[in-house]
Amino acid sequence: MKHHPTLAKNYAAPPFEAVKGQGVYLYDANGKEYLDFTSGIAVTAIGHSHPKWIKSMENQLHLLVHCSNLFGIPSQQELADSIVEIAGKGRLLFCNSGAEANEALIKFARLFGQKKSKKTGKPCFEIITAYNSFHGRTFGCMAATPQDKIQNGFHPMLQGFKHATLNDIESFEALMNESIAAVMIETIQGEGGIYPADKNFLQKLEKLCKTHNCLLIIDEVQCGIGRTGDFFAFEESGIKPDAIGMAKGLGGGFPIGAIWMGKAYDDLFQPGSHGTTFGGNPLASVSGKAVLSIIKEERLLENVQKNSTKWHQALHKLKEKYPELIKEIRGRGYIVGISVIEAPLIVKKAREKGLLIVPAGQNIVRLLPPLIATADDLSESINKLDDILREF
Ligand SMILES: *Cc1c(COP(=O)(O)O)cnc(C)c1O
Repeated sequence: MKHHPTLAKNYAAPPFEAVKGQGVYLYDANGKEYLDFTSGIAVTAIGHSHPKWIKSMENQLHLLVHCSNLFGIPSQQELADSIVEIAGKGRLLFCNSGAEANEALIKFARLFGQKKSKKTGKPCFEIITAYNSFHGRTFGCMAATPQDKIQNGFHPMLQGFKHATLNDIESFEALMNESIAAVMIETIQGEGGIYPADKNFLQKLEKLCKTHNCLLIIDEVQCGIGRTGDFFAFEESGIKPDAIGMAKGLGGGFPIGAIWMGKAYDDLFQPGSHGTTFGGNPLASVSGKAVLSIIKEERLLENVQKNSTKWHQALHKLKEKYPELIKEIRGRGYIVGISVIEAPLIVKKAREKGLLIVPAGQNIVRLLPPLIATADDLSESINKLDDILREF
């Protein structure tokens, strides 16, 4: 397909028009059915058109869609309560996307740094992020994302970012001084190609941040909300971050983002210091509430844990079968990256066979099934991949 004549050309021309979704399947304008292992880039965690989600949204549509944060919003308060139950004592700030969550986190880090520098008398505003990370497309997030393909054409960048190498604790240590306000990393680098942070590295990083009195901020926008089989991907390592960014899966397809700030720092934002018109509006908050209750009621974390071991084994069998095509398989639960020889061609052939997957990084394909995907859905993906790879 070509670019639509009245739409900006910032995205690649689309391969088809998506018109309907049902569970794990997406349908194009010709009625062709696709097993959707893109989940709208890790967004439709509960699959498409989940009946309970629709019901909750429908009810709220009739009650109240929007009122701004001038007024108290019960569904927003309830969603915050639920996230605090999972993340720990603290406060939530709602917004509309991953980039907005990270912008809020950058402002949060600056507020912390300002407070710290009042004590030390030295400037403190810098944030360390990892090479190959992705934090979003706004100016703050671009500066946090040290990738030429993201920053090209938009210099000068926002000041105050330094970069180190994921899983190389010494590279973070080397940058530490009193000017560092925070470290911000993804538990599993998503757009960069599914590169997980090691457990051991995360634990050392937590210690390092404590020693230097800087915040540990985790961007869980892609890997969070159940995708790994834990609610947050970092839970496996046992670390306790000072703040967490989330979005993508949180609304199940309705735009909502959030940051959680731990109790020790949850008064840094005071009236007037940050805000958004739409963030956490009644309808958006209901979308988040519905997603969390469906994850709980349908035991979707257990579903991911239970099914992913076998799925990963089957993927590794494919790697043994096609060693010249598949170089590496990474990831956890329902967030998997496969290093292949020709990612764009594999994505195209998969689509022709009715399987949707997403390219990432350099010659990597991402598999992001919705959390509702059953063992059979996962086997279907293996069969389709086998068919595709056999044809190479
Ligand atoms: C997608 C993503 C973002 C940006 O989210 P948007 O909703 O696209 O602004 C930020 N961080 C990570 C880890 C992401 O995967």
